[in-house]
Amino acid sequence: MIARRYLIAAGGLALAGCASTKRPPPMGHVVVVGGGFGGATAARYLKLWGGAAVDVTLVERNAVFTSCPMSNLVIGGIRDLSSLRHGYAGLVSQGVAHVTDSVVALDPVARTLTLSGGARLVWDRLVLAPGIGFLPDEVSGLRSALESGRAVHAWTGGAQIQALRHQLEALPEGGVVLISIPKAPYRCPPGPYERACLIASYLSRAKPRAKLLVLDANPEIQSKKALFERAFAQHHAGVLEYRPNAELIELLPDGTARFEFEDVRADVLNLIPAQRAGELARDFANVNRRWVGIDWLTMQSQVAQGVHVVGDALFSAPGMPKSGHLANQQAKLAAAAVLALQSGDAVNPAPVVMNTCYSFVSPTEAAHVVSVHQYDAVERTMKAVPGAAGVSSAPNSTEGELALAWARHIWADSLALAER
Ligand SMILES: Cc1cc2nc3c(=O)[nH]c(=O)nc-3n(C[C@H](O)[C@H](O)[C@H](O)COP(=O)(O)OP(=O)(O)OC[C@H]3O[C@@H](n4cnc5c(N)ncnc54)[C@H](O)[C@@H]3O)c2cc1C
Repeated sequence: MIARRYLIAAGGLALAGCASTKRPPPMGHVVVVGGGFGGATAARYLKLWGGAAVDVTLVERNAVFTSCPMSNLVIGGIRDLSSLRHGYAGLVSQGVAHVTDSVVALDPVARTLTLSGGARLVWDRLVLAPGIGFLPDEVSGLRSALESGRAVHAWTGGAQIQALRHQLEALPEGGVVLISIPKAPYRCPPGPYERACLIASYLSRAKPRAKLLVLDANPEIQSKKALFERAFAQHHAGVLEYRPNAELIELLPDGTARFEFEDVRADVLNLIPAQRAGELARDFANVNRRWVGIDWLTMQSQVAQGVHVVGDALFSAPGMPKSGHLANQQAKLAAAAVLALQSGDAVNPAPVVMNTCYSFVSPTEAAHVVSVHQYDAVERTMKAVPGAAGVSSAPNSTEGELALAWARHIWADSLALAER
């Protein structure tokens, strides 16, 4: 439970100090907003490394965490959505105060945030991990289609994943499914192509006369290109058609998706909008008004002292994808930096992070890509370490098992789950 000294009730009544005789801990109060891969990990490691010397509060609007990694297996009918869901009890058992609420405003000068009911929380440092937001208005008609449920993106987990799965189950024989991929950068570069493989596998099994069109605004497949090209040709030819340089420009009221060179009529519209940092980070999004620029040594926003940002909301370093694995790694950097700064210690001058990303190309076979990124003091950014990257030579079922183990492990690490 959150200490009352950090709460200002709705209406401005200061509760600070009134109920607690306990002295504030020496490293103060760190509030983490967003309980996804980045925020949950930051909260866990702040408490793990800071112990009783720091108070940590996690504010997350959803009562339960739902993983996007492995969600394409749900869409493809291989797993249940419930297998992607985990509670926050592990973090609470480690001493993290957990508040289920939405943050509606931030004041980095007063160092307060406002919850949906009007109460305010006071912090010494803030770790912000709000994930992505969408830019649906870049395509005429897309916002209303998403709001009505006529189109789904299924790109933030939860109900949309289930909705897309149900739409695929209801697809008429001989029906058409459309996946539209936005221009990079977007969350999880290989994610749309993995989804294409798993939807194509499902259609081959359950709806053999159906078609899947994958129209990509980018000039080519954005990750594991050769592996996906081979999978499309060897496993999914006849069901899946992939076309690059195909940007969605309009969605007509009758559901026709208009691209530059063609109009598409589809029964299922999986339209992934262009992306930006989550709404809560909007005021700190100083790069193209879309992404948050940070100092990579501290993960601190370039425009707000005391506000550290991790995960997909960041302006990524060159060659660094937006992934759950990297959100987890960045969160550990942020936790270490916050504790160092609060103690008056120096931060690590040469941090290193790494990424591993598995993709399924069939219900059982997966392939991975891996990279390592180290801080470059001259360019003041993270740079890929030459010779430390790799990609599978071919997908196989052993890597499928490793992909599932990766997911179990990162959920356990991020959320302090007992099972490993
Ligand atoms: C289909 C798909 C497959 C993927 N597969 C992989 C994979 O295999 N491996 C991998 O590493 N990554 C994968 N990813 C990417 C991964 O999901 C993201 O990179 C990761 O979730 C980013 O973590 P985050 O903490 O930045 O954001 P999120 O995990 O989205 O967490 C943000 C949290 O902030 C909360 N929040 C936002 N605003 C507020 C507010 N105002 N108040 C309170 N709470 C708020 C949200 O509810 C959410 O829980 C995949 C993504 C998709 C879509």
